[in-house]
Amino acid sequence: MNAHEQSIVDTRLRNPCATLEQIGRKYSVSSERIRQVLKKNNTPTKAAKSTEYKCNNCGKIFKGTIGTPRLFCSRKCWSEYHHVTLICQYCGQPFKRRISRSLKGQFIFCSRECMGKYVGRNYGFVAHPENIRRGIHATR
Ligand SMILES: [Zn+2]
Ligand SMILES: [Zn+2]
Repeated sequence: MNAHEQSIVDTRLRNPCATLEQIGRKYSVSSERIRQVLKKNNTPTKAAKSTEYKCNNCGKIFKGTIGTPRLFCSRKCWSEYHHVTLICQYCGQPFKRRISRSLKGQFIFCSRECMGKYVGRNYGFVAHPENIRRGIHATR
C-alpha cells in the first residue's frame, strides 16, 4: 500500500459515515477509485449509518456511528461533565476537581499549600511562615 492509499484508508477509518463521494472529493479522485482502494485494503466501502446523539454536557446534537453510542460531543465536554467546580476553603478561589465518591465530607482546598495554611491557622499543627507573616499564631 502506498502513502496515498494509506491516507485514503485512514480517512475512511476516521470517518466511518463519510460516503465514497465525500472521500473522493477530498482527494480529487472518483468515488470508484476510492472504492477500489478501500476494497483492496479490506476497509468498508459503504458509509456506516449515522445517528444523532445528544451531548450529556452541553446538550448539542452531534452525529455518531450507530452501535457505538457516544455520550459527549467532545473530549472537552467529557472532561467538564466529570469535573465539579469547588471553592477552596482557604483562599476562596474556584477550582476544578474530578468527581469522585471520596469527595464527601472532605476539606476542600485548591492546593496542598492552601490545605497546609488552613490547617496551620485553625488547628495549630503547623507554624507556617505565611501564618507568622500574617500575624496568625498557632494555638496549642
Ligand atoms: Zn458537548
Ligand atoms: Zn486555595
